[in-house]
Amino acid sequence: MFVAKLLINDEMADAADASTFECLDPATGDVATIAPAASTLDAARAANAAAAAFPAWSELGPGERRAMLSRAADVLLARSADFAAAMIGETGATVLWARINCDLAADMLREAAALTTQVTGEIIPSGIPGNIAMALRQPAGVCVGIAPWNAPIILGVRAIAMPLACGNTVVLKASELCPKTHCLIGEIMREAGFPAGVVNVVTNAPKDAATVVEALIAHPAVRRINFTGSTRVGRIIAETSAKHLKRCLLELGGKAPFIVLADADIDEAVRAAAFGAFMNQGQICMSTERIILLDGIADEFVEKFRAKAATLVAGDPRHGNTPLGTMINAEAVRRIKALVDDALQKGAAIVCGGHPNGTLVDATVVDHVTPAMRIYREESFGPLAAIIRVDSIDEAVTVANDNEYGLSSAVFSRDINQALAVARRIETGICHINEATVSDEPQMPFGGVKSSGYGRFGGKAAIDEFTELRWITLASGSRNYPI
Ligand code: NAD
Repeated sequence: MFVAKLLINDEMADAADASTFECLDPATGDVATIAPAASTLDAARAANAAAAAFPAWSELGPGERRAMLSRAADVLLARSADFAAAMIGETGATVLWARINCDLAADMLREAAALTTQVTGEIIPSGIPGNIAMALRQPAGVCVGIAPWNAPIILGVRAIAMPLACGNTVVLKASELCPKTHCLIGEIMREAGFPAGVVNVVTNAPKDAATVVEALIAHPAVRRINFTGSTRVGRIIAETSAKHLKRCLLELGGKAPFIVLADADIDEAVRAAAFGAFMNQGQICMSTERIILLDGIADEFVEKFRAKAATLVAGDPRHGNTPLGTMINAEAVRRIKALVDDALQKGAAIVCGGHPNGTLVDATVVDHVTPAMRIYREESFGPLAAIIRVDSIDEAVTVANDNEYGLSSAVFSRDINQALAVARRIETGICHINEATVSDEPQMPFGGVKSSGYGRFGGKAAIDEFTELRWITLASGSRNYPI
């Protein structure tokens, strides 16, 4: 069993009132972790520590920030076995997903390190004679990062890496479903030498999420909030941030469409769709949830996809012999089952899977999905792919856009001009041509449109999110004022 601790002002601490909560192992139902149940008092302590550390940290040159972020990447990789153990115990993820998490999170820290010298401004020509006008980027202040459990190392690190690179101090609010994994991020930052108070981590019991998050957003020193999680909670974060007039970045749910045109390389499309739909049991915001097939190739695709999906079985990740691990909890399994039952009742056909066993759900494919079925619209966040057959490219685009979400998407075609034309018509922040919907690189502008949120993590776009752009002028000589 793991024990997690808050990280406040460089101290590994319990909650002020010593309360704790339990996080359960989804494979066994045993207690995976005991973690501090922070109160609003602890949230204030963490934000105060970050506020106190801000002046010195924001004044530090980029070279030192770069060195610490690079060191954090090394420490993270050196401790990847600890990360994998925590992640498998708390979320039921496979070793492969834990490894992907460690590698991408380390890359994100390295990219953030490189960008410390790219927080630049500009000189803007002024109409006032002799006046030099500058647009300068400065650190914003304390940034609160709220991350989910499904790609816990990637998303926990993403929530703090670029804010730190830009000269801000941070409070990471851990997910209740993986407190140890998120607290390990605090530990590696500490080991990498970040000064006291620059990185703080808070864990809370599920029942206290609303009050702890509101206390963090309301804290006067907090200037930015970034949230990765469901659209339902994203709306609450947006409302609370608006109430306190704070800027937030929201990375929310998805229902990625995957369009296969008549001239596509079917074998390649099948491999990409299977990876995109079933990696991490479909619990990725970019997971392929809707496979939209042009009629001419639909039967061939479905047959090949069935053969591939049938090999993707789920098992206890500790045994390490199945491509899929467990779902996060029983509630997630019930959601999948309800979506499948609803679709079958309304005339869909099961292609493979569909028989959960505890928290284990094999890759499941449902064909002949129509707009009347819940699965057509709702995010399943599980190993469940819906197949929708269409007659024309226009209909494929209409179906792809007939959804409130807009995060990732994919188009398969050998005609690149045609694929690009379709990609440009899809209402998502991200579209991959002849590639899976699940893909991330730290230097890319990652983010969604519509109910998938707003703002961009990754690369230079993140510099805008986590700095203030200020106008500073330098006058020479005397000015002629009108009164
Ligand atoms: P969630 O929204 O249920 O929880 C996320 C966080 O919100 C938790 O830390 C929780 O403490 C907090 N929270 C819960 N209730 C709250 C309240 N009333 N007020 C304030 N905060 C509250 O999300 P989850 O189930 O952990 O994650 C799954 C979701 O995240 C999926 O919808 C998935 O698509 C999305 N996601 C998006 C991205 C992206 O980059 N767009 C990445 C991964 C996951």
